[in-house]
Amino acid sequence: MITLSEQQAKVLLVEDEVPIRKFIAINLQRSNFTVLEAADGETAIELARQFNPAAVILDVMLPGIDGFEVCMQIRKILPQVAIIMLTARGEDMDKIMGLELGADDYMVKPFNPLELVARIRANLRKLASIPTELGNNKNCIHYRELTLDLEGQRFFKGKLEIELTPTEFAIMKLLMNKPSKAFTRNEIMNHVWGQNYFGDLKTVDVHIRRIREKLEDDPSSPQWIETVWGYGYRLKGAGKNV
Ligand code: CA
Repeated sequence: MITLSEQQAKVLLVEDEVPIRKFIAINLQRSNFTVLEAADGETAIELARQFNPAAVILDVMLPGIDGFEVCMQIRKILPQVAIIMLTARGEDMDKIMGLELGADDYMVKPFNPLELVARIRANLRKLASIPTELGNNKNCIHYRELTLDLEGQRFFKGKLEIELTPTEFAIMKLLMNKPSKAFTRNEIMNHVWGQNYFGDLKTVDVHIRRIREKLEDDPSSPQWIETVWGYGYRLKGAGKNV
């Protein structure tokens, strides 16, 4: 079983501006992370392949291939890695959290490095919490035609496998563990990201939207995850004969 010790976790830091990179690196090292540094996308992808980091801190604006492309490529190499993107512009948020990129989180510059450390820890805990709860070899959660295979970290709709990011997987695990319960955005954030997470609740909505785009036949008329207006989200049809 993999246990992710955040004390020894390797973090790949991708930022071309040297003073910013050094400043972030020093703060990560003080927090006991092992830091790999890259100044461009090609180097970052190569380091990701060689050293299998637990988390990637990835600037959007890079020389050569940009952070969006690097994110997609690293996600293909390391499906389980936590990817936190750094952006100078708030309007990048939709793209960063969009379906095709697969980033787990983002921070807008300038930011407090201690908050970045908290975000990395929250994202690593989220990943680590999944294997520690494994009990037996057939550890699956079922709901209607959905199956969450906790040991294999796989998600199925009927026989069709749907690839989820670690964040999306953790959200589905939460919802499927208590299918009749409506969860507030706050509850989802606390369960998935941890109590000390300072994130925006809109992040929850963005991840739900991304899951719907993968899961729903028509994401504008969700048949699996319903919005409980003014409250949060719940699996649809729980407790009914649907
Ligand atoms: Ca940059």
